[in-house]
Amino acid sequence: MTSEKCPVCSKTVYPMEKINIDGKSFHRGCFRCAHCKGTLKLGNFTALEGLFYCKPHLIQIFKEKGNYDEGFGREQHKTKWTKANE
Ligand SMILES: [Zn+2]
Ligand SMILES: [Zn+2]
Repeated sequence: MTSEKCPVCSKTVYPMEKINIDGKSFHRGCFRCAHCKGTLKLGNFTALEGLFYCKPHLIQIFKEKGNYDEGFGREQHKTKWTKANE
């Protein structure tokens, strides 16, 4: 028998409390949104940069990052659109 460790809390995960994500075993209670700490379910989460998020928060984070990292990118987009419309 192999004892599997939860990557979040580093404690052993027993089969009855195990949830398998990306080949890793988490405790059900440890599998939470990195933003709101809400418990996630299979099929209702998204992984980003090694962290897990519920869908509304992933979208929120994408928007924030988009505004942050791509301030100039958005302007270029605009320019492209303008040219395309002419
Ligand atoms: Zn855990
Ligand atoms: Zn969340």
